[in-house]
Amino acid sequence: MTEQFDVAVIGAGIYGLMTAHRLLAMGVRKVAVFEMNYIGSGQSSRNAGGIRAQFANPHTIRFMVAAENEWRSMTRELGYNILFTQDGYLFSCYDDEDPELYALHRKLQNENGVKSVWLEPDAVAEHVPGINREGLAGANFHSLDGILHHDAVISGLIFSIRRNGGKIYEYTPVSKVEMGHDGKATLHTPNGNFQADYVVNATAAYAPGIASGLGISLPIKPVRRELVATEPLQFFMKPMLVSLKYGITIHQSLRGEFIGHTSIAEPENFDLKASFAFMVKYARDITKLLPFMKNVRIVRQWAGTYDMTPDNSPVLGPAPSIPNFINAAGSSGHGFMMSPAVGKFIAEYITTGRVNELMRPFSLERFGKGEPLTELVLSQRGVL
Ligand SMILES: Cc1cc2nc3c(=O)[nH]c(=O)nc-3n(C[C@H](O)[C@H](O)[C@H](O)COP(=O)(O)OP(=O)(O)OC[C@H]3O[C@@H](n4cnc5c(N)ncnc54)[C@H](O)[C@@H]3O)c2cc1C
Repeated sequence: MTEQFDVAVIGAGIYGLMTAHRLLAMGVRKVAVFEMNYIGSGQSSRNAGGIRAQFANPHTIRFMVAAENEWRSMTRELGYNILFTQDGYLFSCYDDEDPELYALHRKLQNENGVKSVWLEPDAVAEHVPGINREGLAGANFHSLDGILHHDAVISGLIFSIRRNGGKIYEYTPVSKVEMGHDGKATLHTPNGNFQADYVVNATAAYAPGIASGLGISLPIKPVRRELVATEPLQFFMKPMLVSLKYGITIHQSLRGEFIGHTSIAEPENFDLKASFAFMVKYARDITKLLPFMKNVRIVRQWAGTYDMTPDNSPVLGPAPSIPNFINAAGSSGHGFMMSPAVGKFIAEYITTGRVNELMRPFSLERFGKGEPLTELVLSQRGVL
């Protein structure tokens, strides 16, 4: 007999796991997650763990404030230490950049509940000892932004889902979803078919393939994204440091490694090979921003696949014509930070039928209506 579920979640990345966890917490009993590979095998275990509310679009800022609040209680909620530190994100600004842009970001953020402030160069150097001070004008800073350990979050979610009776099927790719006349969905997998009242498509850059079988077109494409980690140094840099000038994002992990990225044109495919071109550009850029890095050895480099949408924001919520098929994909490089709110709002929709006001702007319909959530400044500089 075909196994039946209240909700079938496709994809065991952070979006799928958070959604399953929140559904079970809200009392939904029969929840299953289907994963084509192993749990967390996608971007969710390849990222930098940065959590910020410093964005430049009112809808995104408000969503991130909600998510940041959720992260604060996540260790308690999961009964598992997610190693979340709130020491801020610092956006450095140099003389050859436009300070008005930074002022505009702060204004937008302050108007939408984020208390970002301007730091003078001395204060910047206190947060980031060793930063290049030549031409340093200051920085935008928000102390409640932070960094967490993505593997700890994934582990905590796996324990919580299983403890609460949820099922996770690894190595079970969903090849097709069909909607029956009775409104139930059938999921086709090599390990048999499964039925569910609701389906959540949390398959990142694979989401268009699942949705297209139901006649839904998702504007999501894969783009490679790389990171580099150094040998560990004594811990001294607490915030995530971002340079729009160089397109750099870098932080020091709790074990002392510097983990960073620089912007470079990357292929639009699922290629996970780390590239020499990236390593060379990163070495050039990072030694301009943090000159001491020229003496630090690189020990690791890896790639993951971003799932990009035209406005660099995810598609969240029920499909326009199929209310029990819900998309949670296209996170465009900042999905980990959004995930507790994504999971909560999707679970709320499934249990109440209500689309949360914070999630509504992220609907698929926004593209047809010409209401994108564009953040030109950040995306042009490759900081997403
Ligand atoms: C290098 C890098 C750095 C990043 N840094 C940050 C950061 O600092 N902060 C931040 O918030 N975000 C960051 N991100 C982005 C973040 O990792 C993603 O936004 C987030 O993990 C997306 O989660 P997801 O669950 O949607 O996708 P994924 O983790 O990719 O999960 C999707 C899952 O679906 C599975 N799947 C696909 N198709 C099927 C199918 N047909 N059947 C079953 N399973 C399927 C995949 O195997 C995968 O496990 C970074 C990403 C990268 C690559």
